Amino acid sequence: MAADRSEGGAARPGDHAPLTPGWACDTCGEEWPCAPKRDLLLAEYRRDRAMLSVYLGACLAAATQDLHVGGPATVTCLQQRFIGWLPRRAKGF
Ligand SMILES: [Zn+2]
Repeated sequence: MAADRSEGGAARPGDHAPLTPGWACDTCGEEWPCAPKRDLLLAEYRRDRAMLSVYLGACLAAATQDLHVGGPATVTCLQQRFIGWLPRRAKGF
């Protein structure tokens, strides 16, 4: 499965950016968001966790389209992958 970098290309090395439409990390090759990226996101959005939820929600929506997700089981799987790792605060979102 060769990576197709024909679009985008603004990501820097070490940025752990998602490669679409496969949604694998372009740095470590793990499913995005990979563990290093989660740490980066938490640090980046630590003052604005709500915006992180919005951002990940947008990524989830895009990935759902890119990956042609159909069944509810797979949608739940993607939700867990993109949003389920967020540390839960008192009220969540
Ligand atoms: Zn990564």
